Amino acid sequence: MLGGVDFPPADEPPTTTITRDLSCLRCGYSLRGLARDALCPECGDPVSRTLVGDVLAATPLAYRRRLYRGARVIWWAGLGAMILAMGGPIVIIAGASQGLPDQLVGGCALVAGFGVLGAVVAFPIGWFILTGPDPSRLTRTTLDRAALWTRVSVIVGAVWFSLNIAGVSLLAGRTTGIIELALSFLPLMLLGWHSWMAMHYVSLVAARVPDPRVQQLARTRRITVTLWATLGLFLCGVGVIAAPILYLLVIDALRAALKPLALAER
Ligand SMILES: [Zn+2]
Repeated sequence: MLGGVDFPPADEPPTTTITRDLSCLRCGYSLRGLARDALCPECGDPVSRTLVGDVLAATPLAYRRRLYRGARVIWWAGLGAMILAMGGPIVIIAGASQGLPDQLVGGCALVAGFGVLGAVVAFPIGWFILTGPDPSRLTRTTLDRAALWTRVSVIVGAVWFSLNIAGVSLLAGRTTGIIELALSFLPLMLLGWHSWMAMHYVSLVAARVPDPRVQQLARTRRITVTLWATLGLFLCGVGVIAAPILYLLVIDALRAALKPLALAER
């Protein structure tokens, strides 16, 4: 009672201790019963940091910069590979039909080829930067598991791609019809798997920004990009163009969401 007016009870009692079940974000220790301004008895992290929630703003600036850098490398590598892989042949064909010297057309092809190769090398490097561990977490989380499997999908894809570039066929002349048929679907399965893992990981990072729009976009694209990268390839090859565009737009949305966090002073 204050001045004859009844105040409704607040949702949370004005207590200085944690009255609900709450695990320390850094180490997982139960913080119930501890003061809000205390330090976690297990790892020494401030309880207030867990109360703020699992947000990137509470992680070291170096980690946020790493995420931003990773997203930028993937974006530029992907964009470069797409432009060169699609634009290169068009320029070469146009050049040949216009009667340009063979040496000039050949030079263009060489530059485009090396450009694609550079982008293809930069792409997995970008993913390794983006999937680096958060140093402010001591326990393994859903994010860490997603990061690990995204990395595995990138490595397997890179190995498969390199072997193909080198013209190596692991099972040439040693397979029967059924195995050969199953193996012919292997690249599709790899593409689908990576698409799913990549979009899943981005949605988890976006949740920590927090950016619900990018998070939801990536969650939806787990299905759409995976479908375009697999079944979409049979639709007159539309998937070859649709899958990377939809994929890269998600990476670009994440890059934009991470930018203010990476450029923040603290
Ligand atoms: Zn702790």
